[in-house]
Amino acid sequence: KKIVVAIDGHSSCGKSTTAKLVAKELGYAYIDTGAMYRAVTLYFLQNYIDVADDHGIKKALENISVTFKRNVKTHRNETYLNGLNVEDEIRKMYVTDKVSEVSVIPAVRHAMVKEQQKMGKKRGVVMDGRDIGTTVFPDAEVKVFMTADVITRAQRRQQELLAKDQMVDLDIIIENLKKRDHIDSTRAESPLRQAPDAVLLDTSHITIDEQVDFVMDKVAA
Ligand code: C5P
Repeated sequence: KKIVVAIDGHSSCGKSTTAKLVAKELGYAYIDTGAMYRAVTLYFLQNYIDVADDHGIKKALENISVTFKRNVKTHRNETYLNGLNVEDEIRKMYVTDKVSEVSVIPAVRHAMVKEQQKMGKKRGVVMDGRDIGTTVFPDAEVKVFMTADVITRAQRRQQELLAKDQMVDLDIIIENLKKRDHIDSTRAESPLRQAPDAVLLDTSHITIDEQVDFVMDKVAA
């Protein structure tokens, strides 16, 4: 029987890396919900949508379509905003800087949650984000809440950015991670929380393989 695997947690603690590998092992779809909020943020930036302009936000949401398509060469799922590939753009620092402010907006969350529930309706998905186990799929069969100490997270993030030729100071990354975690966990609408029935996984001192094994054990249980 196909299930939903919900992976939530703090920024940059290895959620997407783990989720992708678990999805591959299970033959499930992987859905990166952070990419959806990032794509919406990119649209807001490109169209000068003010986060306080309710009417503008409502209209924008009617015009936004976020989809995922598999790149046949890299076998990676890539994010599309209104038909345009934005996979690289949404990972850039100027989007990362703004994404949590856009993600607090209730209308944005409602639209995204609805889409995510549609995508996982048939189950057989691994979804990562901040509110999957609490709001999107409170009935997920497996719920994991990931965390790691902030320095480890920042160092991993810096390496990822470096691999994409983006050099960012560690201090700036630490600031950004702390800011996002703060905004994400204090917002009124579906804040970042460990669901009562989620298992905690601290990735500060473990390898990616160990992270994947941990989740696979829960799936098998
Ligand atoms: O996972 P990622 O770091 O790409 O997420 C970017 C941002 O999107 C998070 O910092 C958070 O503000 C927002 N987000 C969210 N709910 C989700 C996934 C991401 O609010 N389910």
